[in-house]
Amino acid sequence: MKIGCPKEIKPQEFRVGMTPNAAYEAVTKGHEVVIETGAGVGAGFDDAAYTDAGATILATAQEVFASADMIVKVKEPQAAERKMLREGQILFTYLHLAPDPEQTKDLLASGATCIAYETVTDRNGGLPLLAPMSEVAGRLAPQVGAWTLQKANGGRGVLLGGVPGVGPARVIVIGGGVVGTHAARIAAGMGADVTVLDRSLPRLRYLDDIYGGVFNTSYASAGNTIELAREADMIIGAVLIPGAAAPKLISRAQLSELKTGAALVDVAIDQGGCFETSKATTHQDPVYEVDGIMHYCVANMPGAVARTSTIALGNATMPFMLTLADKGWKQACADDPHLKAGLNVHAGQLTYAAVAEALGLEA
Ligand code: NAD
Repeated sequence: MKIGCPKEIKPQEFRVGMTPNAAYEAVTKGHEVVIETGAGVGAGFDDAAYTDAGATILATAQEVFASADMIVKVKEPQAAERKMLREGQILFTYLHLAPDPEQTKDLLASGATCIAYETVTDRNGGLPLLAPMSEVAGRLAPQVGAWTLQKANGGRGVLLGGVPGVGPARVIVIGGGVVGTHAARIAAGMGADVTVLDRSLPRLRYLDDIYGGVFNTSYASAGNTIELAREADMIIGAVLIPGAAAPKLISRAQLSELKTGAALVDVAIDQGGCFETSKATTHQDPVYEVDGIMHYCVANMPGAVARTSTIALGNATMPFMLTLADKGWKQACADDPHLKAGLNVHAGQLTYAAVAEALGLEA
């Protein structure tokens, strides 16, 4: 199969859909790989890294789309890219179709077979192609929160780890899933005094079993949450209720109860945010203040570390990409129900019930 990877064109997107390592594996399995020139530069991979891996560099996205049987990307195809898709072609990327009727219409019209990273499942009920980005955002959260806590950035001027004779910062993490666990581990590793709150007792039991001694756990009742928040220097929001907007766990009125200059890092901002005063920000202007509390609410945190994110995403997508290339989408999906769960659009039909329901269309 000929696999094509164009340069991402969504503003501020520096990741790339295929690493040189993934290209190498595809080529050694007998596939052809074409990459748009400069596609990997934002993630630190120049054209030579791809040609060394056996790929061919093409000058334009048009050439990549025109020649490849399967397009591998990161972000949902933008309007100009959607026009280049064709019947029978496979598109393998993040799609997030439910809130995006325009994109859905164009993908249906293209006749392409579109497999969405975010709905591929695994045998533990997880989302293996979303998890790496949650790991990145979780590990990044204490890092950006520590920066936000610095005086010059509006924070309370507290060092996460303290120093001998001065106690560490107190960090609470609300939501102990993938993001929350990684955030708590890193914050604890930086020397902070960390407590993770969750509403799931089985999850709290698991965290206590594995990380007891590294960080504390607490049940996320409203009372416990505000009690711990009052003492916190940094609050990381990491909750998820699948398919729903994030619940608001700290209200505007409660901000006055927090320490002045505390840092709120709302990782759940891509689901609307879990603090009432959260609004999405960008890497260019990530932090704002409300009632003396600093808010960091970047909706695409992994973009800040495009190289790490690209490699982490590539590690997760590569086996699926190779299976699609080896078997074709039909056989690959017939053999693997978890990959089939990623099939959102095929030949002008919506094939994912939740997306169809959200858009009021037929699956
Ligand atoms: P996850 O499903 O692994 O974990 C979510 C946790 O939240 C679960 O343990 C759940 O029990 C808990 N929870 C649900 N409601 C709660 C409540 N009211 N109080 C306390 N805990 C509650 O999800 P995840 O992969 O860790 O993702 C967390 C959030 O981070 C999601 O909204 C996700 O979209 C977002 N995210 C954002 C970025 C970004 O760049 N901003 C990147 C990756 C993920």
